[in-house]
Amino acid sequence: MKQVAVLGATGSIGASALDVIARHPDRFRAGVLSAHRNVDALVELCARFRPELAIIADPALEGALARKLKAAGLPTAAAAGADALTEAAAGPLCDTVLAAIVGAAGLASTLAAARAGKRLLLANKESAVMAGPLLLEALRAGGGVLVPVDSEHNAIFQCLPGGRPELDRAGVRRLILTASGGPFRGRTRADLAAVTPDQACAHPNWRMGRKISVDSATLMNKGLEVIEAHVLFGAAPEAIDVVVHPQSLLHSLVEYTDGSVLAELGNPDMRTALAHALAWPERVEAGVVPLDLAARAQLGFERPDTDTFRCLPLAYQALRAGGDAPALLNAANEIAVEAFLAGALPFLAIADVIEATLAELPPSPVVDAETLVHRDLTARDTARRIMRRAFC
Ligand code: NAD
Ligand code: MG
Repeated sequence: MKQVAVLGATGSIGASALDVIARHPDRFRAGVLSAHRNVDALVELCARFRPELAIIADPALEGALARKLKAAGLPTAAAAGADALTEAAAGPLCDTVLAAIVGAAGLASTLAAARAGKRLLLANKESAVMAGPLLLEALRAGGGVLVPVDSEHNAIFQCLPGGRPELDRAGVRRLILTASGGPFRGRTRADLAAVTPDQACAHPNWRMGRKISVDSATLMNKGLEVIEAHVLFGAAPEAIDVVVHPQSLLHSLVEYTDGSVLAELGNPDMRTALAHALAWPERVEAGVVPLDLAARAQLGFERPDTDTFRCLPLAYQALRAGGDAPALLNAANEIAVEAFLAGALPFLAIADVIEATLAELPPSPVVDAETLVHRDLTARDTARRIMRRAFC
């Protein structure tokens, strides 16, 4: 029986994971659930899954959470704040942690889970992007395993022998990440000048949270995933390629030196990657509709348009620059996406803000989490200043 802490339980990944967990009460138990500010949604999940502990990230809401859990007659204890998240990720109520908080807010609990040797199911790609060397060090120190949940990395994990081998020795030549191209595939820069947040969030194949949906529309999601692939699998930047595949049926590929190319295919439904990560090395039913290739008929592939979608080359640039440049890229992106979602920044300016932030802040080596958080805040301030100067 795996005791799972679902951090980010009220999100899109959280919901898919809880769906898989509910299908297998004999294998998985959700012992810890967390949410950011939505107390009612968290209490509703507690009524269904009866965890030992519920955590609300906003400390001001601890009293409301405790009151509502009690009023509902639930045995679940209430906790609040970032420290409660890291304590639970490392604590005795779970052996498995699903890191499904969005953005840099997921970093501390992800690192805590890794350091404590938990089985880490990583959806929160931002923590791998920000703190790759620290995450690898924490995993080494903790001795636990990381199973990627991001569908591309989960696919690559499945196509590699034994998880995280030395790629050279395993005969791997290239990792090929597939990208759907997002809702704006085929559009020109002129087409994109006035697109709205709702248009950017209308992804053709996946239903996701709003931040990752915008990242998919700018192709920054793929850029973050290139960096994530570098961290998780140790591939050099030039050995990681991106191909646009609009149907999202191939979730990524591994090319070997003998010319073999292995791919993982399936319908676009995150429950496949989540069920794989939860049960690995076993397999369990995920509730996903089987793939009917003949009915789908067409598999298309094209090169990404990096002149229109500049966030992808910016991510490669940050990866090559090294040090904490990926963390600076991630921080500037979070600020720019937040401003775009608030209607305060044009879509095309997201890349401009990130580029200008990277130009102002030369990378430093990644030494520890405190320094990194400080650099993340500096990059956020820089991005806000650049936005004020250029767009307000
Ligand atoms: P979402 O916005 O639907 O959910 C985010 C979750 O994080 C919610 O439970 C929210 O309450 C919590 N949260 C938000 N801000 C927080 C904060 N400051 N402190 C604590 N908790 C906070 O997002 P999502 O689509 O489920 O994505 C979650 C993560 O998984 C992201 O890192 C995303 O990149 C990654 N991911 C998502 C998908 C997908 O299909 N949705 C696929 C691959 C990877
Ligand atoms: Mg992905």
